Amino acid sequence: MGLCHPAARSARPGVVTTYHLVDRQWVPDVPSSCPLAAPRTSCRLGRHSRRERKTGPCHPLTVMRCRTHGVCFSLHPVGYVPYARQPITPEAGATGSLVGVVSEAAAGELWPWRPVAAADGSESQRGQSIDATNERATGERGWRSTQAAHVRRAATMTGIAGELDGRCRPRMARVLGVDTLLLRELAGERRRKGWLGVAARAAHSVVDAMARIGTSLFERLAAAGHVAGLWGPVSRCDGPGRPLRPLFPRPGRARGHEAVGPPTRQRHR
Ligand SMILES: [Zn+2]
Repeated sequence: MGLCHPAARSARPGVVTTYHLVDRQWVPDVPSSCPLAAPRTSCRLGRHSRRERKTGPCHPLTVMRCRTHGVCFSLHPVGYVPYARQPITPEAGATGSLVGVVSEAAAGELWPWRPVAAADGSESQRGQSIDATNERATGERGWRSTQAAHVRRAATMTGIAGELDGRCRPRMARVLGVDTLLLRELAGERRRKGWLGVAARAAHSVVDAMARIGTSLFERLAAAGHVAGLWGPVSRCDGPGRPLRPLFPRPGRARGHEAVGPPTRQRHR
């Protein structure tokens, strides 16, 4: 199975694991291998540091060092992908997920427009009057442009974005576990009616279809985002002391215990 966007091949791999609250500190399950390890092998791993976060998870991330392969890598909580400011799915303790934002927009709950300065110096809002929703959005969420950016990202991750070509959509469908026809129909609808609510409802329909077949929403969306070129390959630690399991299997490797793409050396991030 190839990637739709070759640029993603060079993207750094990400690692997710479960964090537990122990004595008021978030402590991760630590794997026995790094993302460069061969399948089912272990590395000489040690904790390197804890990385403070300005956005994303509200606690520091543990950074590991692999002495076998000479790399460092961060452990992200399940739900997050590398460089994400918000989780893609609403995992335990996480709020404001990408799927949640899409669900909200699909239900018609749109965030306010950013106020723009009028000619007389006063502030006005494009398309909306200034009211209580404005106050709510500035502190807690954001403006309409931010919401639209989230929905665009979700549309790519769910295989309905216009820029995904015809060969890519079947791959996305396989990774997401939904029908290619569904993605084609929803992508067409989104193209015909290009406004935010339609895109959000289309992306939400894909997530709904995935939920109905009981798959792991996070794992499939994380793998699909990689196929679409949004981020690098993601591996998961299934428990303390266990080797990493790639979420993007090679063809014929349904359980995903296979190396992910070409080895990519990564630095501490
Ligand atoms: Zn290693």
